[in-house]
Amino acid sequence: MYEGASCSLQVAFHAAAKLNIEDLDPPVESYGYWVERADYQGRKSFGVFQCPNCKKRWISAHAQKLYRQGCQRCETESLPLFLWVNVEKQQRDRPQDEDKAPHDSARCEACRKRKCKKGSISGI
Ligand SMILES: [Zn+2]
Ligand SMILES: [Zn+2]
Repeated sequence: MYEGASCSLQVAFHAAAKLNIEDLDPPVESYGYWVERADYQGRKSFGVFQCPNCKKRWISAHAQKLYRQGCQRCETESLPLFLWVNVEKQQRDRPQDEDKAPHDSARCEACRKRKCKKGSISGI
């Protein structure tokens, strides 16, 4: 299938203490791959966060490249480390999980600025 898509995901210099992109599970049952935030070309997707303060990790279905989310443990806000590139995007095969996933709007900067779908529309 799209096995080749993940071949370039080699992280050369991340120390073991840091979150390793190769250890991340796909957030949805579809083809795609994680990229570092700087390499992400889109605007929003699934995102992996790790609190720079207490190191707590979480995945959000409503991560945005330019917006921070707050840590549930210590409230420190940070940008996503990695964002998900969905390979099947052109097939209009949007993952349903995205809309069902719980979202901590109170800790989402995009929600506060009304840039987050979850924050402006309910019940979809
Ligand atoms: Zn924290
Ligand atoms: Zn949000």
